[in-house]
Amino acid sequence: MVIQPIYLPHLLKQPRCTQVLAIDQAIADLKTLTPVRGEVSVRHGGTFLEVKAEAETIVTLHCDRCAQSYNQRLALDTKEILWLDNQGENTIPVLERELSWDDLSEVLPPDGHFDVETWLYEQFNLALPLKNLCGKDCQAPQVPDDGTGNGFDRRWAALADLKQQWN
Ligand SMILES: [Zn+2]
Repeated sequence: MVIQPIYLPHLLKQPRCTQVLAIDQAIADLKTLTPVRGEVSVRHGGTFLEVKAEAETIVTLHCDRCAQSYNQRLALDTKEILWLDNQGENTIPVLERELSWDDLSEVLPPDGHFDVETWLYEQFNLALPLKNLCGKDCQAPQVPDDGTGNGFDRRWAALADLKQQWN
């Protein structure tokens, strides 16, 4: 099942120029344990698109410390403004709404499509943790027992041998 991209001129004919999509499915190329569930709303603001998403899923990650895999809930609660560029005129309106330049990241052609699925894919990738840790109690793997039974690392065993020779 594919989320149909939104044809922007059609969006202007929707009530309040807004389309709300209920999401309950896998997202292409996004490896998740459970379907992505939530809601995406796309509003045509004339010169920009306002995209809001509240969605969540569960992903399987690999711990950087102990290398075990574990499941983690990934939740999205985000809003993004995408400018619509009118044939290169690039007339950025007065920012009378509470928009800051930080909100503006991408420019779309006003007669093009907004690809909801790709956008969701990007948002979930941004939401992934930079460092994967399975839990607070996670321990690095123990140094395997070297079979001497004394629990020493081999290097210490070599030192102990040297000491014995000196005695
Ligand atoms: Zn771990």
